[in-house]
Amino acid sequence: VDFGFQTVLASEKAEKVHKVFENVASKYDLMNDVMSVGIHRIWKDYFVKKMFPLPPGTSIIDVAGGTGDIAFRMLQSIERQNKHFDVSGTEKNSSILISDINQAMLDVGKERASKMNLQSDMLSWLCADAQQLPLADNSFDLYTIAFGIRNVTEISKALDEAYRVLRPGGRFLCLEFSHVNNPLLKQVYDTYSFQIIPPLGEVFAGDWKSYQYLVESIRKFPTQDRFKEMIEEAGFRSVKYENLSFGVVSIHSGYKI
Ligand code: SAM
Repeated sequence: VDFGFQTVLASEKAEKVHKVFENVASKYDLMNDVMSVGIHRIWKDYFVKKMFPLPPGTSIIDVAGGTGDIAFRMLQSIERQNKHFDVSGTEKNSSILISDINQAMLDVGKERASKMNLQSDMLSWLCADAQQLPLADNSFDLYTIAFGIRNVTEISKALDEAYRVLRPGGRFLCLEFSHVNNPLLKQVYDTYSFQIIPPLGEVFAGDWKSYQYLVESIRKFPTQDRFKEMIEEAGFRSVKYENLSFGVVSIHSGYKI
């Protein structure tokens, strides 16, 4: 009976998450700027900077890649790096697979990629669940997931999949909302999250509920230390994390040895 109940809860969460991102897809990029006052750009830039330099021919998967914010930054950095080191030849090109469970988010991403004139032969797209990637074992050198793992129904399944698809020596990097430890800042942050974010969602996107979900999902996500343990439980080694903006977000990293 218990198992049945949990299954219902799991599918309810998956359905809710799907609806949220279906609803917000077209306004997703604007809303990120509104909600974070543009700070998400700084977090994402920093996250991508941490990966570089990358060896030529690195094969990357960006899971829960949404509208491509992380992948496009990686692609632009790879292009800059290639120019700097005079790397040429398609065999040396890195590749980025953007994967997301929601086709609506990927469609917005594809449109953005063409508007941005990105070198699209390095990019490919896949609609897939992070908990069950239709990809071979040991296929990638780098697995990234930004603001995505919080939305997955079973975090440990996504971590197991990350471990499976990475090659030995491959790196896991995750950017996610986390927990502010300073009590005073926490109070300010909680007030902002619960009292400002849903109304902003209503005003700018006509969607209170999706933004209330966003706040609740952040609150429920494991602490920095617990998440680090979960990554270790999946088999990763040298697992570390770094807090940004006093723990509003954190970057966790680990290696498949
Ligand atoms: N990584 C992008 C960024 O940083 O802008 C998008 C982040 S967005 C907040 C979260 C994304 O996770 C959505 O595009 C959503 O469709 C995706 N997602 C939710 N559950 C997923 C799952 N089980 N597997 C893969 N993607 C999922």
